[in-house]
Amino acid sequence: MKDTAKHQGLRNQLVKVLEAKGIHDKNVLKAISKIPRHLFIDSSFEAHAYQDKAFPIAAEQTISQPYTVAFQSQTLEIKPTDKILEIGTGSGYQTAVLLEFKAEVYTIERQHELFKRTSSFLPRLHYKPKRFIFGDGYKGLQEQAPFDKIIVTAGAPFVPKPLLAQLKIGGKLLIPVGDKSQIMTLFIRKSNKEFEKQELGDFAFVPMLEEKN
Ligand code: SAH
Repeated sequence: MKDTAKHQGLRNQLVKVLEAKGIHDKNVLKAISKIPRHLFIDSSFEAHAYQDKAFPIAAEQTISQPYTVAFQSQTLEIKPTDKILEIGTGSGYQTAVLLEFKAEVYTIERQHELFKRTSSFLPRLHYKPKRFIFGDGYKGLQEQAPFDKIIVTAGAPFVPKPLLAQLKIGGKLLIPVGDKSQIMTLFIRKSNKEFEKQELGDFAFVPMLEEKN
């Protein structure tokens, strides 16, 4: 678990790449420049950890591309007072970015191997979500609703109704929707029944799956 000056140098370069791609939120860039991404991925990919690329992690899943993590974080306009639900803990990298904002984070993972691994790894780096949940993100987390923000980090074939229902008025759900590739879609809850919908471009995610493993 080493983090060296060389790693910091590579992170600074990654921050420049993300700025050039349109990421301007200072807090997002600060989080990316601080979090040791090389520790979140398989050591065989370590040399490439600070390229703007997705990599395989356990259980046939991937750690999202840094641009995608930065884009989702920037779009959600996270505040320290936010209560956030994350669907798809995966490596925990996006979780760490959310925690850098001092938000209260609940994170759900449906692969037991990743749930176990990441729920012991993240606290060792001093990243402590309110709760790690082994469960099904399609259902959200009714017992802790409503949330200020809900972020989905797997490709959803449709928008799960419970996620919309678990948003506060004024709250935001950011979810990539589609099968082979996804359209990043933002829902803002305007009232009990009304949601504003914005489509924010094409992305590629591993699919959100129904069965727990
Ligand atoms: N944010 C993660 C992205 C991991 S990829 C990271 O940067 O590392 C998407 C993750 O969503 C995978 O870990 C996958 O197992 C998980 N996932 C897929 N379907 C899910 C579901 N229905 N509920 C919760 N998690 C799910």
